[in-house]
Amino acid sequence: MSVALVTGGARGIGLAIVERLAEAGWQVVAAGRDSQALEAATEPLRSRGLDVDPLRVDVTDESSVAELFEGCAERYGCPDLLVNNAGIAGPTVSTVSLQRSDWESVLAVNLTGAMLCCRAVLPTMLERGAGHIINIGSITGKRPLMHRVAYASSKLGLIGLTRSLAEEVGPHGIRVNAISPGPVMGERIERVLEGQALAQGITVEEARAQFTSGTPLRRFVEPGEVADAVVALDALPGVTGIDLNVSAGLVMY
Ligand code: NDP
Repeated sequence: MSVALVTGGARGIGLAIVERLAEAGWQVVAAGRDSQALEAATEPLRSRGLDVDPLRVDVTDESSVAELFEGCAERYGCPDLLVNNAGIAGPTVSTVSLQRSDWESVLAVNLTGAMLCCRAVLPTMLERGAGHIINIGSITGKRPLMHRVAYASSKLGLIGLTRSLAEEVGPHGIRVNAISPGPVMGERIERVLEGQALAQGITVEEARAQFTSGTPLRRFVEPGEVADAVVALDALPGVTGIDLNVSAGLVMY
């Protein structure tokens, strides 16, 4: 059975990816910071007979990342697929008001965390001459959002990581891709909309309309649609180094 490890797997997009991969027959390790939340989120999947195991990790902590991959290796072997999904939104503030600590914590989770997980999984993937890494980016930055400098920088940095690593490990049979979701239905986007409303002096509904009216499909994306993109991308062995927008057309490049 193929093994997938998904970070930030306790809720939102990560949990949807965990579910879709398990439904597609993968053994899935759902990794996240809060063991109780992970246990509660994944229990309904196990009770449906899906192979989902929760393991704790803080992706910003090198020793915690090492423990995660050791734990996965002991139970199931090295992941065939790593999905770097863990991420934080960070503050919506002007650059002059941005605290250095906020900038650093956004980069620590969204960019350094992904790099640490890649670094931990790669030695075994390189030994095997096979493997696939998918980084969950964002369209933010490609289409700038008011007062979102830290988040946008972290997510465009992730595209740089994706392309550089794809070049580096491609000759060894390992693929590295990114998926850039647009606004996804859920708790997090509501907070982003509130932040945009405040930053631009408009209502939350006006902020929502700004997003949806800019999409050819006139809507947000569902978490399951990002999960479908993970499964689809994994089934395309000739594809590496790409950054696939799942944004209802909000961004087209
Ligand atoms: P959520 O905030 O709902 O979930 C994020 C997950 O990441 C949580 O499970 C969280 O765990 C986990 N996480 C945060 N920090 C760490 C850490 N240090 N170590 C391990 N896990 C951590 O986000 P979404 O599901 O909305 O987003 C998932 C990904 O998709 C993120 O990378 C996000 O940037 C990206 N994205 C989301 C969009 C959206 O509209 N929602 C749009 C574009 C991209 P905990 O429960 O402990 O906080």
